[in-house]
Amino acid sequence: MNKEIYEKMGIENKVFDLGNSVLKGLSESFARIDDIAEYNQLKVLNAFRNQGVSEACLHGTTGYGYNDYARETLEKVYADIFCTEDALVRPQITCGTHAIALALFSNLRPGDELLSPAGRLYDTMDEVIGLRDSRGSLKEYGVTYRQVDLLPDDSFDFEGIKKAINEKTKLVTIQRSKGYQTRHSFSVEEIGKLIKFIKEIKPEVTVFVDNCYGEFTEEIEPTYVGADMMAGSLIKNPGGGLAPIGGYIVGKKECIENAAARLTSPGLGKEVGASLEVMRSLYQGIFLAPTVTASAVKGAVFAAAIYEKLGFKVVPSSSEIRHDIIQAVEFNDPDKLIAFCKGIQSSSPVDSFVTPEPSDMPGYESKVIMAAGTFVSGASIELSADGPLRAPYAAYFQGGITWPHVKFGILNTVQCLLSQNLISL
Ligand SMILES: *Cc1c(COP(=O)(O)O)cnc(C)c1O
Repeated sequence: MNKEIYEKMGIENKVFDLGNSVLKGLSESFARIDDIAEYNQLKVLNAFRNQGVSEACLHGTTGYGYNDYARETLEKVYADIFCTEDALVRPQITCGTHAIALALFSNLRPGDELLSPAGRLYDTMDEVIGLRDSRGSLKEYGVTYRQVDLLPDDSFDFEGIKKAINEKTKLVTIQRSKGYQTRHSFSVEEIGKLIKFIKEIKPEVTVFVDNCYGEFTEEIEPTYVGADMMAGSLIKNPGGGLAPIGGYIVGKKECIENAAARLTSPGLGKEVGASLEVMRSLYQGIFLAPTVTASAVKGAVFAAAIYEKLGFKVVPSSSEIRHDIIQAVEFNDPDKLIAFCKGIQSSSPVDSFVTPEPSDMPGYESKVIMAAGTFVSGASIELSADGPLRAPYAAYFQGGITWPHVKFGILNTVQCLLSQNLISL
């Protein structure tokens, strides 16, 4: 049956068979992913029950949004899931970068120093910090930045970190996912060790974690191991593919109050911010997030295994335990990278007929090709891929809100490469 429908959709039998033979070797890995999803599903359900989520929570408010019961309960649900004192979960937080910038700006004051103890941060942070000149950066407000790079073996430079912590160090920022870097993504356990080390040197420092792409990939989250504050995007993992916009910050009460005062206004804080018509999607999204994230992680592992088998370098490898949903495949050939992205695009439920082309992007030196046919524009929890047109011509692949869809998407990329004689089977 399945073979027939794949064939009808342009997947040759030998590609289908390759997929299934690769899958046979992944049963242990998939069972582990399902176990994590099961644990996290119950954790989320428990938070819904604890906080008494009701029918009334699914409706939003307009105008100022005073006494928005739906919004307040959702924030309690997030605080419960992430084991924090408080949370800010808002459609007014426009994206991940905004959530992170909000957490940093609101908890730093002129004269303070921000420390990254684990190397470079996500590209968009350069302008937030002021590493690249930009309007309204932390630098403009008199906040300095210091960075300690990872050691050549990809481990923390504890000695360097100890030296970098000084009387000005107010906030430490750690990024869980590697983003587009070549380092590994940190496990929550590793992050916990780093936090412990830092707090022993300076207990009063605030530790922040950029949790983008990490949520629900493990049973534990950085706030369980000492992070004072953590942020992420709702159009990635915790929105479950349903949230149409939004970001979250969870953490200590004081950190969240600082963030709320900056998001809205001093004096108003968390009390305003109408939830409009998005509450149902935010609730249903976080409820689905554990299994949606599991689908994306399965897709990443499957992509790694199939492209490994085809002889490409993949990061991480198919046997590595995952701490985020990102998979890189190095093609070392622009045509192969482009064919991969075309395969993803034509597998999409929306805009499947569109052909992605490499183009110039603000902030990038080389052309970039992107593939995404998503229900929520730019949502990278949905099946998507991108890659800069420069060596090693790597495709960064992520997302997929159902496992059968990601499986088809990956097989379709293989079919695209095969049909163009870029690989042989
Ligand atoms: C996606 C991402 C961001 C930025 O989020 P946007 O929603 O794209 O602004 C920051 N850090 C990491 C690790 C990310 O993956």
